[in-house]
Amino acid sequence: MSLSLCVLGSGSAGNCTLLQMENGRGCHFALIDCGLTMRQTTQRLAPLGLALADIDDILLTHLDRDHFSLPWARALQRHDITLHVHHRHRTAAIRAGVPGDRLDVFDDGFELDDATSVESMLFAHDSLGTVGFLIEHDGRRLGYATDLGRIPDFLYDRFRGLHALALESNYDRLMQLSSNRPAFLKQRIMGGAGHLSNMQCFEAVTRIAAQSKLSQIVLLHLSQQCNDPRLITSHYASACPELLDRLTLSNQFEPTPVLPVHKKGRRGKPVEARNGQQLAMFNA
Ligand SMILES: [Zn+2]
Repeated sequence: MSLSLCVLGSGSAGNCTLLQMENGRGCHFALIDCGLTMRQTTQRLAPLGLALADIDDILLTHLDRDHFSLPWARALQRHDITLHVHHRHRTAAIRAGVPGDRLDVFDDGFELDDATSVESMLFAHDSLGTVGFLIEHDGRRLGYATDLGRIPDFLYDRFRGLHALALESNYDRLMQLSSNRPAFLKQRIMGGAGHLSNMQCFEAVTRIAAQSKLSQIVLLHLSQQCNDPRLITSHYASACPELLDRLTLSNQFEPTPVLPVHKKGRRGKPVEARNGQQLAMFNA
C-alpha cells in the first residue's frame, strides 16, 4: 500500500496534481483539478511513464479556468475518466460541457476506490466557493486545500492527524499591496474570499503540523507577480526550521518530485521522474 502526490503544475495559469494509490493489486491514478492544457498534462505525465489513459478520476476543487481547462470536458469520455464535483458545482460543470455520464456529484465525500476515501469541505471563494479534500488511503491522510480566501476554524478540526498537507500560499502581502494591480483585484484576492497569503498559510501549516505527523508539506498556487519562493523559504528557515526538510514549493512550469506520503511522518527521499520508471518510482 502506498500514497504519493506530484504537483504537475500550480499557479494562476493552471493547476493539476497527480495522486497515486497503490493497493497491492495495482495502481490507481487520479488528478486533483485539470487546469493545465491537455498537451501540458500529457507532457508532464510522460516522464512518469503515464498517459491520460492511465487516469481514472479527477477531483475538482472548483471550475475556474485555472482549475478546469474547458477541453477536458470533451476528453473525459475519450479517456474514460470520471469527474467528481461537489453538488454546488454540478450546474457549472454541465454548462461547461461535461457529459452527465462522466459526472459523479458528491455532498460530503465519496469512495475513490476500495482502499481510498475522500471527504470534502467547502471554502469561501468567489461566488460558488471551492472544495478542499481529505484523502485517506490505508491510514495515510492527505489534506488538500487551495483558493480558500481564509482559513475557517473547522479546517483545523478536519486537518488533524495528517501525514501530508498541500495548501495554498498565494501571495506576499507587501508585494500584493505594492503591485500595480487595480484596487478591486487586490480586494478580491485579499478580502477573505480570494486567496491565502504566505503568512495565513504559514500560520495554518504550523498549527496543522502541531496536530499531525506530516511527512510532506506542499505549497500551492504561488503568484508569479506577487510572491517570491525565496521569501517563503527564508521565513520557514528562520521561524520553523524543523519543517524545512519536508517542504516543497510547487510552481507553474514544472512538476514537483513525486512525494511519498509516510504514516510515521518521516520524509521519504523524493524520487525524480525518469522515463520508463513509472511503477518503480511510485513504489519507491
Ligand atoms: Zn486558482
